Amino acid sequence: LELTEEQLKQNLKDVKERIADACARAGRDPEEVTLVAVSKTKPLDDIRVIFSQGQTAFGENYVQEFCEKYDELGDTVDWHMIGHLQRNKVKYIIGKTKLIHSVDSLRLADQIEKEAAKKDVTADILMEVNIAKEESKWGFTEEEAPEAAKAIAEHPHIRLHGLMTSAPITDDPENDRKYFRMLRELAEKIDAEHIPGVEMNELSMGMTQDFETAIEEGATIVRVGTAIFGARNYK
Ligand SMILES: *Cc1c(COP(=O)(O)O)cnc(C)c1O
Repeated sequence: LELTEEQLKQNLKDVKERIADACARAGRDPEEVTLVAVSKTKPLDDIRVIFSQGQTAFGENYVQEFCEKYDELGDTVDWHMIGHLQRNKVKYIIGKTKLIHSVDSLRLADQIEKEAAKKDVTADILMEVNIAKEESKWGFTEEEAPEAAKAIAEHPHIRLHGLMTSAPITDDPENDRKYFRMLRELAEKIDAEHIPGVEMNELSMGMTQDFETAIEEGATIVRVGTAIFGARNYK
């Protein structure tokens, strides 16, 4: 399963080219799109190879794995927490993340506020939205998201920057276009409410299966794992 250094570098180059091409098609500046290299289950050596190519943003899903990697690499890397976060684990990651994408409940936001206040830091977050209403997925519904944004805005140690979603698994990225559009429109709707302290500048959407479609629909952050690091082995 492990890729060679050359393969990893080539994969990163290919993904960046595909991002640039999607931006060109959409008339967007590639500078507007942040690539988060999703390194969950992958070893530090792979991260170091990708980092050596100028890639600074990495995404992790599991708190323990993230903390082990953080202990080695610290803040040289911009860490993005993208996986479902249990409230009792929040204390381990506050102050270490550039952005928490996966804030999927008000109780989780309350816990983040509490731990960020303790450490006297501001936690930068996105709200995760289950835009396709999948049973298996975490996230706010489209309907509850605007009220939730208002509630989150009350927290002085949290800054809400936008929305995140994962589209259903599919073989055809065109199937996901409608969901990306829905997320963008939801962000516009929340933005129009001018909630003090709330920005809707970031749309985290698009993974290996559909990041180009997501960029065409306005993604500002894409989260790409497999296309860079190869298939994951969860054992
Ligand atoms: C694992 C993961 C990704 C990356 O998925 P790939 O298909 O490997 O690109 C992106 N977002 C989330 C939330 C993930 O859990």
